[in-house]
Formats: sequence, C-alpha cells, structure tokens
Amino acid sequence: MPDVVYADYQSSKPVDPRVVEAMLPYFAGTFGNAASLHAVGDEATAALERARAVVAGFFGAQPQEIIFTSGATEANNLAIIGYAMRNRRKGDHVIITEAEHISVLNIAKYLEKNGFRVTRAPIDLHGRVSAKKLRARITDETILVSVGWASNEIGTVQPIAEIAEMLGGTGVALHTDAVAAEGLVPIDMSLVPVSLMSLSANDIYGPRGLGALYVRKGVQVAPVLLGGGQEHGLRSGTEDLASIAGMAAAAEIMTAEMPAEVARIAGIRDRLVARVLAEIPDSHLNGAPLEPSDGRLPSNAHFRFDGVEGEAMILSLRDQGVAAATGSACSSKTLEPSHTLISCGLLHEEAHGSLEFTFGRFSKDDDVDRIMAVLPGVITRLRVLSPLYKAKAHA
Ligand code: PMP
Repeated sequence: MPDVVYADYQSSKPVDPRVVEAMLPYFAGTFGNAASLHAVGDEATAALERARAVVAGFFGAQPQEIIFTSGATEANNLAIIGYAMRNRRKGDHVIITEAEHISVLNIAKYLEKNGFRVTRAPIDLHGRVSAKKLRARITDETILVSVGWASNEIGTVQPIAEIAEMLGGTGVALHTDAVAAEGLVPIDMSLVPVSLMSLSANDIYGPRGLGALYVRKGVQVAPVLLGGGQEHGLRSGTEDLASIAGMAAAAEIMTAEMPAEVARIAGIRDRLVARVLAEIPDSHLNGAPLEPSDGRLPSNAHFRFDGVEGEAMILSLRDQGVAAATGSACSSKTLEPSHTLISCGLLHEEAHGSLEFTFGRFSKDDDVDRIMAVLPGVITRLRVLSPLYKAKAHA
C-alpha cells in the first residue's frame, strides 16, 4: 500500500493476512466442485459446509440459513426481489428508508417498475428511523420492510431489534443490510427476529467479491440467479470455495478479537472527533452523537466544514497522504450530494462540505496526529478561495 493514512475503511478493508493464508489451500489443493460425486468433490463439500457453519455461528444463525453470494449487492437483490416476487400474492407493498445503500434504492426502483409500491420512510436529523414511523406506514398490502442495520455513510445504527419486535405478529418480513455494521456491533440472529440479512465478507476483513444472505428458516424467497441449483436452489453457480473459506477465517478472527478491536477503533475515532471540533472553526459532526455509543458505528467520523467542498478536501488530503471519503463511501465519484445527508435535513451546500473518515483493524494510534497535521491547513486554504465562506464571514 502507498504510504498513506488510510481512513476509508467503510469503502474497502484490507484482507487480513491470516485470511489470505486460510484461502491459499483452496486455489490448488482443494480445487474440487462441491456438486461432484467423487472424493475430490466430497472434500470440497466438507470444506464448504465447515465454512458455512463457522459463518453462521458468528451471526448466531443455523448453517442452512446462510446462502453464499457474490457480495452484498447480490444478497440485497436476492433478499428484496426474491422475497417480493415469492410473496407477491400476499401484497405488493415494500417499505425502505431514505438512508439505504444505493443498491437497495435501485432495487426499490426496479420493484416499482415491476408493479410493486415502495414507501421510503423518513429519517431524523441523526439519520435514524423509528419503529413507530415504520409502523405508521404499514398497510394490509405490506409484505417487507428493509432497513440497513447501520448507515455506510454517516454510521448511524438503526434500532433493528426494536423494529423486528414491532413487526412481530404482523406477518411483515424484515430485511436488513448489515454490511456497515458487521464486525462493529454485535449481530445475533438467535436474539433478533430478522427474516433476511445481507452480509459481505470484506467488511470483516475477508475477500472482496463474496457475500451471504441469511434466510431465516421458513422464510420463502424466489431465486434471482437460475442455474444448477446450488445453495439450496437460491443461488445457482459453483461456489467460490477459496473466498468462502476466507469469510469463515475472517469470522473466526473477528469472534476472538472484536471486543478489543472495537474499543481501540472507537478510541481513535473519538480522538479525531474531539480534535477536529476543537481545532477547526465552523466544523460539525454529521449523524448521531458519539453518546450513547450504540447509536453510532465506533469507526465512523463524518464531518462538514462550512464553506468548503468535499471533492476539493479529498483531493487536497490525497496530495498530503491522507485517504478519506466524501459523503457517500460507495459513490464518491458522483457529484450528487449524499441522499442520506439531504434526508437528515442538510442543505445541499452543507452536504457538499462533508468528509468521512472511517477507521479499522489496521488503523494506527498516530493516524489522528497525521490527519490533524494536514487537515486544518487544507480547510484554511480552501476557505481562502471559497466565495461561500467569505459570504458567511461578512453576513
Ligand atoms: N450495502 C452496504 C451498506 C455497503 O456499504 C455496500 C458496499 N460496501 C454494499 C451493500 C454492496 O456491497 P458489494 O459491493 O460487496 O456488493
């Protein structure tokens, strides 16, 4: 990696070297196809099912409830389109929130083109949706509610247990995209009655290009990819055994290290937030406050700076060896302001002035010092050039 302070863990995490080690035997050694009936295939099947059990265990699920996919985008497609199509006779109404990942937003548009009705529930200024607001939008036609466990942008953690409890007995299924929350907040399907949950391997320091969908026993989903019927018929295509073994290794490491790791990451994040707000004038924290700590991902620091623009900040920081993200980690390259920030009630220019730092396993304690050695200067220089900031100063 170039010698940069990497503070963009939400968009991509390095694969843990121990995970890479665990994957290597599956490229040449165990190369069989789990669908084959010979001994080489049996070896692959055994490895696949071992990995499935480990991944399931990490999330408090049963092994048969885990369907491996090519990533969280595919898991979201399978969950939402698959559930809507399979359960269409019960109703045609789906509820999402305004804070969802772009994949969920685009799936919602696809459903609308295909005859479903979608309601987008509002979020508050901290990015939170309440069980009550969702409840008020449920009709006799509602079949599915989809709420991301946490926002990949501003890091707000949603009250998923409360929402799941509220839906209990209504017959409405709950899907959650848990990608941003994995490895950072406890997720246990034996405690929270979620029907469907999208997961990604990379978010627990496993390989990119692998995900999973948790499908609670008894929940009916139609496949979206058709073919040879792998993964209980829900996701055809030969399983990527190396990546699946990698996800299992990542889950094992996370099981052992998560509590200490989360505390350390939160410490780094807290120090950055305290220093930015104290040392840079007209700076603000977007999203939920740091306390109570279960309302915000411990890794996430999302700021806005009056009178400066996100892209300009990123590029200046890039020149000074700091890798951060603008408003939305997954679509940093678009010039649209983040839909989540606008839904939180920010003005377009406020959303445009946002900068996101996310920390993780390989963040170093002195990353905050290195960021703060350059960030105040970057903001000052951009403000000198900013007509917006000058207008504010003279207002
Ligand atoms: N959901 C969330 C919350 C995400 O942050 C992302 C991107 N990391 C995805 C879904 C899509 O994941 P993938 O690119 O692995 O398909």
